Amino acid sequence: MKVSANSNNFPDSQGYLVDNGKQERIYKGLPASGGIAIGPAYVYEREEVYVVERILSPEEVEVEIQLLDDAMERARAELGKIVSFAHEKLNQDAAAIFESQLLMLDDPEMHKALNKRLRDECKNADFLIHDELEKFRVLFGEAKDELLRDRMADLDEVGQRIMRNLQKKRLHSTVEGEHVIIAEQLTPSDTLLFSRNDVLAYATDVGGITSHAAILSRSLKIPAVTALHGASREIATGDLVILDGQHGLLIVNPTEEHQAEYARKIERIIRLETELADLVDLPCETSDGHKVELSANAEFVNELEFIITQGSKGIGLYRTEHLYIAKGEFPSEQEQYIEYSEIAHSMYPQPVIFRTFDIGGDKLLERGISELNPFLGWRGIRMMLDKTDIFRHQLRAILRASSMKNIKIMFPMISGVAELREVLAVLEEVKAELTEELVPFDEHMEVGLMIEVPSAVFVADELAKMVDFFSIGTNDLVQYLMAVDRNNELIADLYQEFHPAVIRAVKSIIDTGHANGIWVGMCGELAGNPLATVMLLGLGLDEFSMVPSVIPEVKKIIRSTTFEDARTVAANVLRLPLATDVRAYLDTHMRAHYPHLRETLRNGVNSENGTHRNHEDNGDQHATL
Ligand code: PEP
Ligand code: MG
Repeated sequence: MKVSANSNNFPDSQGYLVDNGKQERIYKGLPASGGIAIGPAYVYEREEVYVVERILSPEEVEVEIQLLDDAMERARAELGKIVSFAHEKLNQDAAAIFESQLLMLDDPEMHKALNKRLRDECKNADFLIHDELEKFRVLFGEAKDELLRDRMADLDEVGQRIMRNLQKKRLHSTVEGEHVIIAEQLTPSDTLLFSRNDVLAYATDVGGITSHAAILSRSLKIPAVTALHGASREIATGDLVILDGQHGLLIVNPTEEHQAEYARKIERIIRLETELADLVDLPCETSDGHKVELSANAEFVNELEFIITQGSKGIGLYRTEHLYIAKGEFPSEQEQYIEYSEIAHSMYPQPVIFRTFDIGGDKLLERGISELNPFLGWRGIRMMLDKTDIFRHQLRAILRASSMKNIKIMFPMISGVAELREVLAVLEEVKAELTEELVPFDEHMEVGLMIEVPSAVFVADELAKMVDFFSIGTNDLVQYLMAVDRNNELIADLYQEFHPAVIRAVKSIIDTGHANGIWVGMCGELAGNPLATVMLLGLGLDEFSMVPSVIPEVKKIIRSTTFEDARTVAANVLRLPLATDVRAYLDTHMRAHYPHLRETLRNGVNSENGTHRNHEDNGDQHATL
């Protein structure tokens, strides 16, 4: 059934759709994890931990300290189990959420502060924890920044866990049978623990699509909708619901018509997934024989197996920063060499592009450094050119790992020729050093740079003469071209990957690269957005590097089109003046040519790396039901 904008089923601005006269109610939220589920609701209410302030006698203080230690111990044991379970079920990135909670729990400063307050103030431990959490709440305030909000939520969960253990209460994150979990809010542990049961989907009143719970649902491949504005209070356990994770919809007491329609959609998704699985070993070429490369963006060694099963032709962007983030300091040359070699071996003979450290901006500042505009600050290659010892260690590690000849290197945030000259000079010096030391490496290792700073677009002709390839980093290119902070929710609707300025910049980079005889790839999120695939193909992109789970869909689109058609699409897009026009045109094209794909795409949410929300994707979430 189609529901048009003027139908009475269209959402109002509160995210609540008009009751259709029967019992069916449709709520609109944010699409947090793709997929569709139909089943009974289970309304989950976490038992609140209430605390009462008590004054303790000196003897009671000593007992309370012991009770606190015991509660911490139990909380640690619980979290330890959750961490091992997370490692079994999740990728490294998602499991790290629980590791950081464990670190918070073991924070010696927190222990010291609590014990001191207990002795000084003679108050009960659960009250003091509650009080400390309140202080943090005030400190973080109504944080606009999702990272801060997530940090507060993690801290809160750790605090609640200790208080619950102090009060010897148990938590019940289990449910019998297949259900759609409905809750005001889910913590990361709730999300993970419910997944041990036959959970069909998650729907929450509160939360953003880059919140930890949303990231976990995507990692667990459980459909989820969030920001449902109090829907949980209006749903009863046992109500039949349909959750549409692609469009961010929750349908309560659906009509028979909707039930039948969604059952058909589920069937189509299953069929498509089988078809996509069959594509893994087929080449990525259009039906008229134009070949392109599809590769994966990666960050952790344990992602490699999944990348290979998705049919990736190598890694188009390996973000090396995690080595620094995990350690809290720069890793040694040897540590890096071990990791880079393992990746090169596992992917052999497929290529791996290592990007040198891109630290700064949103990617963790060095301690003690505070900048007013970190995204315009000491970031990426700028920092590395100031810290040449660290840069040299990384270059040596990458070169040493390159002897199998399947490694390429690229540099982030290059803004012009002078910077690139400096970088290449260091690279040459390091190569000379290794040659002198008789250390083997690939002397012809391809060298590329990310085009993500607008100035680089305008001097791309000069830059192209100095390297073997370009990789377009649209995540940053969009933010710098449009002057829109990629993490700022206030202006998120201005972050437009389909803005004509972005598309023209992409065309110019590709054309300039080709005119200078080098290949051009893209490793920003746009490369993995199925809506952009045909356009990018037609613009002449040679390599698409993306979140691995999207590879089969993008391959399916490329194999179902002709290069000629793609070129026409690109030419038509280049004539359009507005981002909305571009999206509408590409959407219409997709509907006309790949209707089943458009409807069943699992990856409506293109924000797996949590760096920005693809807000434009939410724009037409109600075009069809
Ligand atoms: C980009 O900017 O498009 C990119 C791929 O790099 P990152 O998201 O790591 O900044
Ligand atoms: Mg970038």
